[in-house]
Amino acid sequence: MKPRLPALFIGHGNPMNALGENANSLAWKTLAADLPRPRVILAISAHWVTAGVAVTAMSQPETIHDFYGFPRRLAEFRYPAPGDPELARRVASLLTPTAVTLDSEWGLDHGTWSVLAHLYPEADIPVVQLSLNGREGAAWHLELARRLRPLRDEGVLILGSGNVVHNLGRMDWDRPDFAHDWASRFNDATRKTLEAGDLGTLAIYAFPDDSLPDARLAVPTPEHYLPLLYIAALRDGNEPLSFFNDRIEYGAIGMMGVKVGETRPG
Ligand code: ZN
Repeated sequence: MKPRLPALFIGHGNPMNALGENANSLAWKTLAADLPRPRVILAISAHWVTAGVAVTAMSQPETIHDFYGFPRRLAEFRYPAPGDPELARRVASLLTPTAVTLDSEWGLDHGTWSVLAHLYPEADIPVVQLSLNGREGAAWHLELARRLRPLRDEGVLILGSGNVVHNLGRMDWDRPDFAHDWASRFNDATRKTLEAGDLGTLAIYAFPDDSLPDARLAVPTPEHYLPLLYIAALRDGNEPLSFFNDRIEYGAIGMMGVKVGETRPG
């Protein structure tokens, strides 16, 4: 029997993390070294929000450069991992009765490749992306995510890529080690909520109202927080959680990563 693979949430932050070594990328590298080797990766990136649900179904996904104003070497970066049309069909079947579009237009966006470049630099493990349905609320996403649980026993590494705290308008580009007080408080609250397995509160944090001022600042839009909900929903009972890169960068970007489940040699 295949080992049950952990599920990962990774705070991807600046796309430049894809290039070279820094504290974030070193932690991602170490993380992958401790995981059983996945057969295939299913990535849920903050950068693919669609009307409805889609899954990449091409055999060779393109590397998408969905950002502007970064150096040319980032725009030229390629992550040439193959796709896995069979996994795309398996995902569509698991998510039934929710309609899933087998997509041939998207590819791998930087939420996915900027971290996989360090987890699996050889790009030799197939990667499929699942989109975030921008029309639905948190409870819907949690329920959908639960249906993906069997994949963890099928050699599939499920990777959510976003940021717990993500407010581009409040960033201070000159201070990489700075954290706004509200960002630190919200980050701590999210960690404690995850540890408690309180999915209801995580769901509220993804779409906070004015009664939660820290969350309003940390999660001005839901797309970077939602991948965390998927990973939290994949936790089975009291499976262990571990955290990495748990810090705020540039005032308003939370780099917290979360591993759900134990690592056993595969
Ligand atoms: Zn992002």
